[in-house]
Amino acid sequence: MKKTLAFVLAAIVFALAACTAGLSPADGTTADAGTELKTDAPASTAQPTGPAAETSGIPDTQPVQSGGEVLPPDDDGEIKRVVIVGVDGAGSAFKTANTPNFDRIFANGAVTYSALTMYPSLSGECWASCLHGVTPEMHWITNDNSASKTAANPACPSVFKIIREKEPDALLSSLCNWTNVNYSIVEDDIGVYKYGRANRDDKVTEKACNYIAENDFRFMFVHLNDPDGALHSIGYGTSAHTSAVEGIDVHIGEIYDALVKKGYVGSTVFIVTTDHGGNGTSHGRWADTEKYITFAVTGPGVLHGEPGDMNICDIAAIVLYSLGIDIPDWMTGRVPTGIFDGITAEPRPYESH
Ligand SMILES: [Zn+2]
Ligand SMILES: [Zn+2]
Repeated sequence: MKKTLAFVLAAIVFALAACTAGLSPADGTTADAGTELKTDAPASTAQPTGPAAETSGIPDTQPVQSGGEVLPPDDDGEIKRVVIVGVDGAGSAFKTANTPNFDRIFANGAVTYSALTMYPSLSGECWASCLHGVTPEMHWITNDNSASKTAANPACPSVFKIIREKEPDALLSSLCNWTNVNYSIVEDDIGVYKYGRANRDDKVTEKACNYIAENDFRFMFVHLNDPDGALHSIGYGTSAHTSAVEGIDVHIGEIYDALVKKGYVGSTVFIVTTDHGGNGTSHGRWADTEKYITFAVTGPGVLHGEPGDMNICDIAAIVLYSLGIDIPDWMTGRVPTGIFDGITAEPRPYESH
């Protein structure tokens, strides 16, 4: 983990701000800042990030809704929103882990455990390809520069910005454990609600559930990180890694059930993806256990089965297609065969690796 002077200073500034706000990070983690707290200093250039918190809009003190009325399903067949739950470092482990929520949610969906990620199999490169729909050579974001707000190629914006240009009033949100996503991959100044909370998938999930409860949104990206942490500390495919994936499955269920409670599942395309797997306690190369990722989607009009020739950059195209927004010519991702009825994938204009 590379710690820059800027990062250390940011951590100090953050700690002082937290104390000023009367927040006590007594559990050894970062304070859950209840007020808007932003810093231009990036969190880190590698996972896991330091204690940078970025939040706006909804106070953290707001409890997760529990109980209450479950609204009737909104199931007229129109896709009104898309949710991506991105699970860092889980690779294809959803195939073998005990994941009852994943299984019930995608029982009638399109699922593959052998989608390809990008090379190198690093978080910066891969999440940027997921959300910008192009190869790392085109989006320019790397793990090393992912803490910079100017890392991305402006000619290949994220799906957030593409949606925003078509829908000025759409509610968009990005809630991330790995806060670098909200520095380099998701653009600033386009009205995206951003929340970051390093090393606390439970808090990110809680915030996502609250956001769903309170907003009729258009697109949400949720980044969870525990499997990547287990990968680096114990190893990919170990019992610890499997346990981390099974813990994420609980969070996936919580987020999905928040949609159920709002009556949204009938009008929501719900996606779970990973960014890469691992090889031992690292990733970044092209071993089978690194390059194959889980991708699952369900929602109105989504087919049951296994999509063909799926690549992580196709996810951006799936998001835009779901929302009825044209896929830009520069985007190398396209909608794979086997996800929507009548859609056959266009020939892939590049070689993945
Ligand atoms: Zn990653
Ligand atoms: Zn990692």
